[in-house]
Amino acid sequence: MIYDIIVIGAGPAGMTASIYAARNKANVCLLEHNDRTGRKILSTGNGKCNITNMNMSSEYYNTSSKNVDLSRIIDERTTMEVIDLCNYMGIFTRVKNGYVYPYSEQAGAVLDGFNSELSRLNVHTFTLVDIIDITLRDGIYTVKSGSGIYEGRRLIIAGGSKCASKTGSDGSCYEYARSFGHHIVKVIPALTGLICKEKYFKELKGVRTEAILNVTVPGHSEMFFSERGELQLAEYGISGIPVFQLCSRIKRLMDNGLNPVVNIDFTPDISAGELYRIIREMIKRCPDSSVASALSGFLNNKIASAVIRISGLKPSGLCENISNSNIHALCDIIKSFTATPSDTRGFENAQCCAGGVSLDEINLNTMESRLVPGLYFAGEILDVDGICGGYNLTWAVTSGRIAGLNSSVMEKI
Ligand SMILES: Cc1cc2nc3c(=O)[nH]c(=O)nc-3n(C[C@H](O)[C@H](O)[C@H](O)COP(=O)(O)OP(=O)(O)OC[C@H]3O[C@@H](n4cnc5c(N)ncnc54)[C@H](O)[C@@H]3O)c2cc1C
Repeated sequence: MIYDIIVIGAGPAGMTASIYAARNKANVCLLEHNDRTGRKILSTGNGKCNITNMNMSSEYYNTSSKNVDLSRIIDERTTMEVIDLCNYMGIFTRVKNGYVYPYSEQAGAVLDGFNSELSRLNVHTFTLVDIIDITLRDGIYTVKSGSGIYEGRRLIIAGGSKCASKTGSDGSCYEYARSFGHHIVKVIPALTGLICKEKYFKELKGVRTEAILNVTVPGHSEMFFSERGELQLAEYGISGIPVFQLCSRIKRLMDNGLNPVVNIDFTPDISAGELYRIIREMIKRCPDSSVASALSGFLNNKIASAVIRISGLKPSGLCENISNSNIHALCDIIKSFTATPSDTRGFENAQCCAGGVSLDEINLNTMESRLVPGLYFAGEILDVDGICGGYNLTWAVTSGRIAGLNSSVMEKI
């Protein structure tokens, strides 16, 4: 049997592509090498699945293709398209601070919705398919696997990236893209923590605090990037949403031979002058107390101890011995606490990858390859990565929808 469309990868991109193609009456075959579909969806949003965001714009996405305008396919209507698909699959949604979740706040509900829609539309879904080879001859794509041979007139590759490989996205699909002549922009982990060189992070483990993170590079006067949000300090370094947002940009600086430094401002709402007045008052008010206890009502005690030690003082030292220049030193460290990244936390801990199949070789209106007719791509395998907040699932669903709709235009098949 020759299918109209073969889709490789039953993640949100491949499942969406299959659904839209099958709604267009295409005979669709969906191939997945895991023992079930959509495994990664279950881990998303800490099990709650942050599927999209009410604040939608192409500005929240990165790609290295300079001439590609993502706003052609991602704009304020995109959110409703994702929500409409959810509603159509029986998933009601709720919005929290702009972040959209299934109403049940259970990622399993989203996966159930996809699975029942696939079966309602008679998409031929095969799991445990171990692909050996893909070829194109006389307009027919042939996918050879350990368990059988599948033939189709169109092929959509939606096998994801190579992060969180235990969920199935092991990077194998980059090789299929390469075999059809596509270029892969260097793939790096995005949305993960940063391992830092300083030893003091061991003692800061477990602290969560609002902060501004300013990224600088020694020898360069400009500030490269800045993010604000809830910082999480860990034994290995820094994590949390503002770090996730910076991670791939910092990794690129490191890959270019630079040594970026993250300067953490632990008091983002207090100016340097105001901070000096506060700390001075706290220190002067209790001459017989230790510096650590004087600061304990103001700063997290683990941060206070580290700041005091880094300034060259002892946490147990008495306030009466603290000079104004000591106070200035403490304030400078609180306002610009150094974290020097040595690496990211790697692909296994990343929520998505930057890089992938170059958009220069893809027609964004259809997601079809500009190199090979009838070959389409969707989802994270492409060189597009979004920030935290539902943007990556939105990209998977949006690119999947475009690929599914356009590959199934019947007069072309
Ligand atoms: C812990 C975690 C939390 C996340 N939370 C969120 C969130 O809340 N919101 C958000 O927007 N994004 C989140 N993401 C990112 C989001 O899950 C991904 O961007 C999205 O799943 C990508 O969809 P995809 O279909 O392109 O790829 P995937 O979801 O990776 O699916 C690809 C599928 O292809 C299969 N496959 C791969 N290679 C082959 C092959 N050779 N043969 C057959 N099948 C193959 C894989 O097994 C997999 O099922 C999170 C990611 C992680 C890891």
